[in-house]
Amino acid sequence: MEWSMAVFVLDRRKKPLMPCSEKRARIMLGRGRARIHRMVPFTIRLVDRLRENSVLQPLRLKLDPGSKTTGLALVREKETEEASTGEIIRTLTVLTLLELNHRGHAIRDALTGRRAFRRRRRGNLRYRPARFDNRTKPKAWLSPSLRHRVDTVMAWVTRLSHLAPITSLSQELARFDTQAMQNPEISGVEYQQGTLAGYEAREYLLEKWGRECAYCDAKNVPLEIDHIHPRSLGGGDRVSNLTIACHECNQRKGNKPIALFLAGNPERLRKILAQSKAPLKDAAAVNSTRWALYQRLKETSLPVELASGGRTKWNRRRLGIPKEHCLDAVCVGHVDEVENWHQPVLAIKATGRGSYQRTRLTKHGFPLGYMTRSKGVFGFQTGDMVKAIVTTGKKAGAYLGRVAIRASGSFNIQTATGLIQGISHRFCSMIQRADGYGYSTTKIALKKGEAGTGAAHAAALSLPGMNAVVSRAIG
Ligand SMILES: [Zn+2]
Repeated sequence: MEWSMAVFVLDRRKKPLMPCSEKRARIMLGRGRARIHRMVPFTIRLVDRLRENSVLQPLRLKLDPGSKTTGLALVREKETEEASTGEIIRTLTVLTLLELNHRGHAIRDALTGRRAFRRRRRGNLRYRPARFDNRTKPKAWLSPSLRHRVDTVMAWVTRLSHLAPITSLSQELARFDTQAMQNPEISGVEYQQGTLAGYEAREYLLEKWGRECAYCDAKNVPLEIDHIHPRSLGGGDRVSNLTIACHECNQRKGNKPIALFLAGNPERLRKILAQSKAPLKDAAAVNSTRWALYQRLKETSLPVELASGGRTKWNRRRLGIPKEHCLDAVCVGHVDEVENWHQPVLAIKATGRGSYQRTRLTKHGFPLGYMTRSKGVFGFQTGDMVKAIVTTGKKAGAYLGRVAIRASGSFNIQTATGLIQGISHRFCSMIQRADGYGYSTTKIALKKGEAGTGAAHAAALSLPGMNAVVSRAIG
């Protein structure tokens, strides 16, 4: 059986219905029972159906917020009670996987540049009182680059809730759950792989020790859990006796007491012993953006399930699912079984809506050139998704992609295969207007030993809209 991305379905009054398969969407369009409502994400509108007469099932939108990429997954949820134990088994069927790529860095760079230009211009005003220290920031203020992350995630939560009847939300809030570890600094924990508490403890230790080897500061290497006071000499499994070390250091230390192992380095010995006693503050587990996002999600009035990163990782390993942002989102919170996760991913890149500033500047802040006063040319705007059918000349052919306009009317089109330059506006027709995002579909790469249905990709690209779904930011 081949799985593919679900198609969003609206009723005749544009109220969301349950998403359907692409095959079904194609049949409905063919019979004239549906119209194409939106190309990306592909959405159809049924002309003869009302939401009141339709059956809806529980849909959950799951979020794994990240600094560069946020994973989103829309899943259908089924809960069954196991007869023998009374446990609730939650089975998820993945409908759509999305990855939202943020542009926090671009925002930060632009603001830093602007600040530098202004400082240069205004620094010359000699006879004005100092004005740099007279502003306060409101409480819970987030910098523009961070606020952008929260805003774009919320924009997509809202957008998706207009396309599908979402009934609940899940968000990964903290990296680890101190409750699941039962006060990690006091009681002993089972830290072996396979139990949830172990995953929480591991994430906790990584955070506490700064994700580097405590003995040699090695970063970006596999890190192992090490007993500061060796177990063979009576050291316990409590978290305050654990640290993280690279494989070499862990081997070299072996079962030596730490005072002996670090005899030549009293400075580091003192640091490690001090650090081991200091419990990590809870606040370090929740970063400010995730917290701000949670506050905004609560305002949607949908129930929000919160979970820790340790639980996500535990679910992912247990279910044999590869590490991808969108699949991490699937694994957030309470999950027992996952179906249909191996499918194409809609990658959404926040591109912005162009520059407000109409003067291009050199790196010293002097004018370099001017952009057109209006952002539109011949009815097109940079970021629009267009289809160009060129009938004559060297560039004859059909192109689909994101357009970058020029005042001359000779446009550039970013297609799936590359940038096509100098296409006249006369050959272009609008597929979807620019909305501040670029879209492309990507595949989940499977490693050996990971479950999956192999050829799940083919069907996804066969709908009229879907192979138009390609664009990358231009300039
Ligand atoms: Zn090391």
